[in-house]
Amino acid sequence: MFNLILFGPPGSGKGTQSENIIAAYGLQHLSTGNLLRSEITQQTPLGLEAKSFMDQGQLVPDAVVIGMVGNFMDAHPQAKGFLFDGFPRTTAQCIALDALLQQRTYEINVVLALEVTEAELVKRLLGRGATSGRSDDTNETVIRARIQEYHDKTTAVEKYYAQFNKVVAIKGEGTVESIYADLKKEMDARI
Ligand code: ADP
Repeated sequence: MFNLILFGPPGSGKGTQSENIIAAYGLQHLSTGNLLRSEITQQTPLGLEAKSFMDQGQLVPDAVVIGMVGNFMDAHPQAKGFLFDGFPRTTAQCIALDALLQQRTYEINVVLALEVTEAELVKRLLGRGATSGRSDDTNETVIRARIQEYHDKTTAVEKYYAQFNKVVAIKGEGTVESIYADLKKEMDARI
């Protein structure tokens, strides 16, 4: 079992690099953003609750997200490991994830943290919004709110895992291939 958190602000490339990593290492991708968007598409009660937060660039309440992650892990008992993408985003989510992993005698092996400047993030997200159909990527006010949420609540996640020396910073600017090569080097050193 190898469990990785791919960490970084909105637009830092977590989704793109997750695809590369799961293809190479056979981990189960667990993207809370993707799971929430799927709940919205299916118009579930959870999706309806989450949508209003997401439309404003705010975090969805911890209890909603944590319940969803627990269900997803239960639904994938054969996973060789999970790649957590967009989760955990608050200290409460870190603590809940530790409990979920401990129940299964697993742990987080490494947190790979992509670092990208704010100007580059806004540029990338607006670029993605022009083609992706994601409404939270078309409005600069919502994008800035997401980055603000990241600074207010999510940077604490890095501090949480730094206590256990699990964080490795990776420069998230450059080509997709060169960033992936840096991620791969860190993965291979630990797997
Ligand atoms: P990005 O990181 O590019 O903003 P995501 O797809 O990871 O994209 O997240 C989109 C939105 O979904 C977030 O702005 C937030 O509202 C919600 N969300 C995703 N993951 C979480 C989480 N772990 N906790 C709370 N809200 C979340």
